[in-house]
Amino acid sequence: MPVPIVNFIKDLFLPELKFVKLMSSPQKRQRIYLMEKVSDFEVCPKCATKAHTIYDHVIVTIRDTPLRNKNIILKIRKRRFLCKSCKKVFREPVQGIFKGFRTTQRYRHHVMWNCTQFSNLKRVATVTGCSEWLVYKCHYEQLELETRKLQSEWPTTVGIDEHSFQRKYGRKEFVTVFVDYNNRKVREVILGRAPADILESERILKIRSRERVKNVVIDLSSGFKLAAATLFPNAIITADKFHVIKLIFPAIMKYKKEVVSNTRNRAFKRLLLKNGHKLKFHESQVLRAVLHFFPTLKDLYTAKEAIHSLYRCKGYNNAKRSFTKFTDWLAYSKIPELQTLRRTLIKWREEILNYFKTRITNARTEGFNRKAKLIQRNAYGFKNFDNYRLKILYSCR
Ligand SMILES: [Zn+2]
Repeated sequence: MPVPIVNFIKDLFLPELKFVKLMSSPQKRQRIYLMEKVSDFEVCPKCATKAHTIYDHVIVTIRDTPLRNKNIILKIRKRRFLCKSCKKVFREPVQGIFKGFRTTQRYRHHVMWNCTQFSNLKRVATVTGCSEWLVYKCHYEQLELETRKLQSEWPTTVGIDEHSFQRKYGRKEFVTVFVDYNNRKVREVILGRAPADILESERILKIRSRERVKNVVIDLSSGFKLAAATLFPNAIITADKFHVIKLIFPAIMKYKKEVVSNTRNRAFKRLLLKNGHKLKFHESQVLRAVLHFFPTLKDLYTAKEAIHSLYRCKGYNNAKRSFTKFTDWLAYSKIPELQTLRRTLIKWREEILNYFKTRITNARTEGFNRKAKLIQRNAYGFKNFDNYRLKILYSCR
């Protein structure tokens, strides 16, 4: 069987170019090839007619992907054509090199590949031997091209959450993340978390088939609720389980100070916040003995356990009954924090109970948030939101 050497050479050089000669000595780290394009005619970019007349030649220097640790420079002898119909002179274009660029498109892709291998762009600049500016340019330009390929319509399940992005003028700016639950990836990231920011964002409105979305998971934020209800008219909105349980934590921590004033002591905090169902026997004994002397804390703890047991309910109707029972119990309480909890729960009643229909939580979105935070930390923070967005979309695809 013949060796496919022809294919190998084809891959080596750009498709339209013909090799003329090697211009550097083979021992050197850099190789310079003289190349030419062969074609009978070129099409005028201004009036789109065929041009056959060669006006003159120019030699351009283009950087190509390194091969076996040798940097490759292409000297391309380009023809300049004279267009007879509009009397203009133009240079012939070469496939794989953009107009006005001094690097081939695959070289830029090679730099981008290096960027994914190293933790900082400065290292890439030393390894590839080009300037930091070019690395920066190539990286975000190629990321843009890659993320454009990932575009798809809305999935059937969407998770929405926010995280802080940067501090500007003394206050925090937030970023909203839309997670595609079907394909386990981040679908879109936008700046701001207010309903107006979400509903007026062009990037969000551009994504097709909004009516396809069946489920939306959010944390207990009324802004997201409003935005989700407007954006996805056919969706069931579910409140995240963890955020519902977490509602009472600050009150528990406040009254915990009566028992243990030392904030460094985590052991008692752990006992209080852990699901009572998962405590070991001796742990629950200790907790019961302590709570006996602190009636307020005991009430708060009972309320927390009641939410846990609410989530252990089987079926929507059972949950609905338990929920009503629980809020009625809260109504008799004299503790102001429990009254606040009751009001919040009643306000979110429908969304909390939807969990028993859909059985989805926001865990995946929180996971992607963790990743986004890690990207921020790795880059020592971002100045440009668009770059940050590209990084997240590419890393969480
Ligand atoms: Zn022309």
